[in-house]
Amino acid sequence: MKYVGAHVSASGGVENAVKNAVEIGAKAFALFTKNQRQWAAAPLSPKSIKSFRELCEKHDFQPFQILPHNSYLQNLGHPEKENLEKSRDAFIDELQRCEQLGLDRLNFHPGSHLNKISEEECLNTIAESINIALDKTNGVIAVIENTAGQGTNVGLKFEPIAHIIERVEDKSRVGVCIDTCHSYSAGYDLAHKEGFEKTFKHFDDVIGFKYLKGMHLNDSKKELGSRVDRHDNIGMGTIGEEVFRLIMNDPRFDNIPMVLETPNEELWKQEIELLYSFIQ
Ligand SMILES: [Zn+2]
Ligand SMILES: [Zn+2]
Repeated sequence: MKYVGAHVSASGGVENAVKNAVEIGAKAFALFTKNQRQWAAAPLSPKSIKSFRELCEKHDFQPFQILPHNSYLQNLGHPEKENLEKSRDAFIDELQRCEQLGLDRLNFHPGSHLNKISEEECLNTIAESINIALDKTNGVIAVIENTAGQGTNVGLKFEPIAHIIERVEDKSRVGVCIDTCHSYSAGYDLAHKEGFEKTFKHFDDVIGFKYLKGMHLNDSKKELGSRVDRHDNIGMGTIGEEVFRLIMNDPRFDNIPMVLETPNEELWKQEIELLYSFIQ
């Protein structure tokens, strides 16, 4: 089964994310469990937690269909101790929020070396951050998202992500989310069938499909290998529709949340319908 949805708003309470997902006909969704641009956040209220869980049950959303996204501020590979600690604490807090909501995975951006440490040192720090966080929490999988490679972000190729996974002690609680726009910006040519086959063969060789815990389905406004992260609506950008048709017909992408993060949210309902219409 394919589970497609979008990164919906949780404004006014996490329970609203479920309502917003239902409204667009989503079978999967992503959300922020706190304001993604602020460090501090009030704990989730018991009322919100209860309502989120009840609505998920009512609308048949199981944990594997939901992919919460971490805050943009965290850098789990930060070169400086104080900022690293702050990021680690915030990450642990988000994993705990997922636990409270009964969710089983948390999507996050690996981090940036800020030109102060080597890429390898940054990757090792990220792995250590994951180990610390997993140790202090239960049941939630840390899902590393591939990046477009903007600035000093690490994790644009599959090898550095595999480098992190190798160093995570509990392999049952680490996973990967592949963002199609980020992949294309990082130089993986998903605009053609041949490039799609080659990219995901390489993904399977380097990381392995067993680690795939989610997808972000986005077209791109930028050219192949641009290293610029600008999402576009499905079929309207430089990648085009073909890759999404291939993904929707490929059983390797079954039973994971596949989430639109496209800029015009007015189109989400239509985009979800379009993606399901690709299934042959
Ligand atoms: Zn992301
Ligand atoms: Zn993404």
